Amino acid sequence: MAETTRILAAARADLNRVLDAGRRTTDGGKTIDEHQVHAERLAYSATEVAAAEALAAYARDREGAGVPDPITDLMAAAFAAEVADRLRGRLEAHRDDFGGPPIALAESEVQAAIRAGQHESRFREIGRDVIRTRGANNSWLGEEMAVMARDSARGFGRKAVAPIAEKIHRHDDLVPETIIQQMAELGYFGMSVPEEYGGQGMGNLVMIVITEELSAVSLAAAGSLITRPEILTKALLKGGTEAQKQKWLPPVAAGELMVGISVTEPDTGSDVASVRCRAERDGNDWVINGAKAWCTFAGRANALALLARTNPDPKSGARGLSLFIVPKDAFDGHEFEMRQPGGGVLHGKADATPGYRGMHSYTLAFENYRVPGDNLIGEKDGEGKGFYLQMAGFAAGRLQTGGRASGLAQAALEVTATYASERKQFGRPIGDFQLTQYKLGRMATHLAAARQLTYASARKMDEDETVTLEPAMAKLFASDVAVWVTQEGQLIHGGWGYAEEYAISRHVVDALVLPIFEGVKPILELKVIARALLG
Ligand SMILES: Cc1cc2nc3c(=O)[nH]c(=O)nc-3n(C[C@H](O)[C@H](O)[C@H](O)COP(=O)(O)OP(=O)(O)OC[C@H]3O[C@@H](n4cnc5c(N)ncnc54)[C@H](O)[C@@H]3O)c2cc1C
Repeated sequence: MAETTRILAAARADLNRVLDAGRRTTDGGKTIDEHQVHAERLAYSATEVAAAEALAAYARDREGAGVPDPITDLMAAAFAAEVADRLRGRLEAHRDDFGGPPIALAESEVQAAIRAGQHESRFREIGRDVIRTRGANNSWLGEEMAVMARDSARGFGRKAVAPIAEKIHRHDDLVPETIIQQMAELGYFGMSVPEEYGGQGMGNLVMIVITEELSAVSLAAAGSLITRPEILTKALLKGGTEAQKQKWLPPVAAGELMVGISVTEPDTGSDVASVRCRAERDGNDWVINGAKAWCTFAGRANALALLARTNPDPKSGARGLSLFIVPKDAFDGHEFEMRQPGGGVLHGKADATPGYRGMHSYTLAFENYRVPGDNLIGEKDGEGKGFYLQMAGFAAGRLQTGGRASGLAQAALEVTATYASERKQFGRPIGDFQLTQYKLGRMATHLAAARQLTYASARKMDEDETVTLEPAMAKLFASDVAVWVTQEGQLIHGGWGYAEEYAISRHVVDALVLPIFEGVKPILELKVIARALLG
């Protein structure tokens, strides 16, 4: 651990220095758009260092609790070394932008620690352990409650979801009601809902470990079902009236009210402040007109959390938006039309996607669709606050996506470890080859870092639910890890990795969506992480 500590102290020192320089360059974050490439490098470097620190802290905590693990120690050192080496390279290559070359990272003792830490033989040692354990995730959680939650979710996922996950994916089916019902009985939709509103009031760590297990069996047909209630719950808790919390949170927690989140529009994605879908007052009602895009689960959902413009002046930007709970009937299939007695119409058509199947993501058209006046979250006080409430919800969603991504990468690691031990070429299991061991070792190490960064941000959010930086970092990093780990896993499967028959091919296409939603990767880096770091 001394080696890891030395490397990380140097990485942190150089990172803090270049962040200070970045603050000066961008005038305290005000001119990020004039330095986007540099700001992105800073955001990613800071995220990687945070991930390395989280993994090292986990190794230390284990040791402190009397459950040290030599493989975890190897991973912590190897990941710290990789991250530090990349940071040193970036600072060297772009020294003019960063305000100078690496200093602490250039010290010879640090350099030696970096060389030793990421030596290929260490990754091979980790890789051999991955093959021996078939990649199983038995990471130490330190909380009895989280261990029990993980065991229970693992049991449920393997028994109820795993046998049908492949069929749902290949046929682009909707998640069966039996799954929704069982998840409701297990309390999975009310994990963040306080007990007084009928929820479990569990901490974020428990929510994350459950999400991981569900996502490991199916990203779309299990793990992602929790995201929508999480987002709406956080928005309601932050900005809803007491009456609204009492009305909406209990059915959300009970899984009686399935939710879709509708922010994106055909012409408006990242620039959320420019949302155009309108909501106009008519007596006691609001009347919705306009188009939305990519609203996941909008067919089956009983209600949509809809961001709409209540101030018609486009110049009002984010301050002209409000968040509504829009009731609708539940439909299965890929297209639906909801007609209201007064003539309002909501039409939805799912856009076909290569992965993330099971919930379907719809383009929506609202035509004079009526919503009761008290469905505006926060009512009078909430008018014009929709953007901020939505962002509070998204922070929770991003944390949960850190868990979704870690779970999916875990699934890829497990099937790949098993395949590598069974597949023989040149007379030996391919897992006997050095390069396969090295690759599995790196996959497991990056996954461990993504997991610990996500757990660390879950704990942070337990302490302060207004944090935005940590969940954004967890989402950014874990999503990239999931994309990379699934693709490495596919390559280790060779041609069979491209066959639908092997689960890895599903994991690859599922993972690709993770860096896109809840703030596409460049926007998350520039508008959330860089802003928070440099502002
Ligand atoms: C399967 C799936 C499910 C989804 N589910 C939902 C959902 O349930 N609810 C919902 O509301 N949305 C959902 N989304 C939408 C998702 O959140 C958006 O796709 C995402 O926010 C990006 O918006 P966009 O697609 O319009 O891309 P754009 O905003 O057009 O961005 C495209 C690219 O342009 C570049 N770019 C844009 N702006 C900038 C800038 N300022 N600086 C530098 N580069 C820039 C970036 O490279 C970016 O990646 C889903 C999407 C998918 C694919």
